[in-house]
Amino acid sequence: MKIKTKLTLGVGLLFVLIVLLSVIGSVYINKLKSDTEKILIANYNSLEFSQNMLLALDKINTDSAIAIKDFKKNNILQEKNLTEFGEKEATQNLNLHFESYLKQPNPEKEKLIREDLVKIMALNMKGIERKSDIAIITAENATFWIVSLGTVCFLISFILLFNLPQTIAEPINQLTFSIRQIANKNYNERVHFKGSEEFNDLANSFNIMAEKLQEYESSTLSKQLMDKKRIETLVNNMHDAVIGLDENNFIYMINDEALKITNLNKEEIIGKTVHEVAINNDLIRELLKNIDNPLKEPLKIAADNKENYFDQEIVPINIVKTGEKEKKYIGKVILLRNITPFKELDFAKTNFIATISHELKTPISAIKMGVQLLGNQKFGALNDQQQELLKSINEDGQRLLDITGELLNLSQVETGNIRLHIENCSPEKIVQTAIKNVEILAEQKNISIITELNISENDMITADFDKTVWVMNNFLGNAIKHSFQDEKIQVIIDKLENFIQFSVTDSGNGIDEKYHRQVFDRYFQVPGEHQNGTGLGLAISKNFIEKQHGEIGVKSSLNQGSTFYFKLPLA
Ligand code: ADP
Repeated sequence: MKIKTKLTLGVGLLFVLIVLLSVIGSVYINKLKSDTEKILIANYNSLEFSQNMLLALDKINTDSAIAIKDFKKNNILQEKNLTEFGEKEATQNLNLHFESYLKQPNPEKEKLIREDLVKIMALNMKGIERKSDIAIITAENATFWIVSLGTVCFLISFILLFNLPQTIAEPINQLTFSIRQIANKNYNERVHFKGSEEFNDLANSFNIMAEKLQEYESSTLSKQLMDKKRIETLVNNMHDAVIGLDENNFIYMINDEALKITNLNKEEIIGKTVHEVAINNDLIRELLKNIDNPLKEPLKIAADNKENYFDQEIVPINIVKTGEKEKKYIGKVILLRNITPFKELDFAKTNFIATISHELKTPISAIKMGVQLLGNQKFGALNDQQQELLKSINEDGQRLLDITGELLNLSQVETGNIRLHIENCSPEKIVQTAIKNVEILAEQKNISIITELNISENDMITADFDKTVWVMNNFLGNAIKHSFQDEKIQVIIDKLENFIQFSVTDSGNGIDEKYHRQVFDRYFQVPGEHQNGTGLGLAISKNFIEKQHGEIGVKSSLNQGSTFYFKLPLA
């Protein structure tokens, strides 16, 4: 049964019974009141009248006028108050006997009057007795009904008092306990209430909720585990090596590629700090050395019986925790990007370029020689047009030779086949040789090359003379190419702390700042310029200078000329 129905029934019944009790109570009280009133009016008054008449009769011999008047007055009142059976006849007899007494008073008649009065009194006394019995029965009935209803009310209240608080409080206590269990993630908790329909519904709803929470908990857990597995598999199948460190440099993750190249075993490193592992592992030690400043050069690591190349990258991990605002550092990931396939392609290309340029060099030289022989007119005179043609063939041949020379240089640099003859060289001599090489070129545009030597005669550098002259030539060649007619090019040699700096300044069109880094890249030419070049000169220069432990750079702005410089160590 529903608690609501139970309550309505119990309290409702109690209410009805209380109303009934009050109605019955007041009905019986009224009835008792009317019974008493009846006795009072009907019988008590008659007794009083009779008694007054007796008293008047007693005084009739002494004070006859007043006594007769008194008697008559009470007799009239008695005549109006005839309520009992036989009272009328007795009163009529009394009248008759009193009338005859008044006509002829004698003790005999007085006695008859007294007997009449006693009869009236006796009739009324009986009436009182009878009515009192009725009142007693009414009172007994009232007591019965009031006690019965009172008992029923008491029983109902008793039942409600002992049943209701428990019926309501117990499920609430049980529910509170179960909610606490759920809050503590004990999703197995279930409630079972017996009896009331409402609490059964509540229990069902609670159990469904707990079941769903349990399902959700287990599903998110398995989903998370699945996601973790997925990410682990992904990380493990990467060709790049990945090592995860927490904020205290403990290794918490390492993928198969990283294990392979470091020759490490997963079990022996997980949970150790990277510094502990580095004690017995060269590669980790090398990585650790550059952890704050990753290597720019690719790392060469032997694995799978071949050389592998990796680019090192350090990715710091900063997260914003739930409920917080600030980012928090929780570790870093060391990423070794496997660039071996690109390197292999690069080598293949370099070898191809080396072979081609080497193979082209001989036929181009032969063509040039043939052109020179023809030019000598050994095999007959040439007309002006033929000489013009020969000249342009010669120039093209020379350009082809220059290009193949540059390509050869580049391939030598890239394959590491470059042979340097490091010796003490005079900076002045290098500059003079280079200027001599470009003299004719400069003359064609009427460009004057001014040198400024800010060094002493004894200042020497340790360098490969030919390669350095080649770089200087390249700088001067570019400066002439990008200068306008009749301009000046400045060559300055400065002494720095441990270096000698060579710089070539022109007042040509200059280079936009965004291209400064790229001009030293292979095959790069500033966009929008239509020059005949290869884009290799500065890349080769950079390689030559860096191989000699020097530095190379450019300072330039658009339309404000350029200064290319390099520094080489003092001897
Ligand atoms: P190349 O001259 O054969 O094109 P380089 O490597 O020597 O190749 O030069 C790369 C690019 O740098 C050139 O194409 C040119 O756009 C730019 N550059 C080099 N030197 C100068 C200079 N002195 N003034 C303006 N631009 C220059």
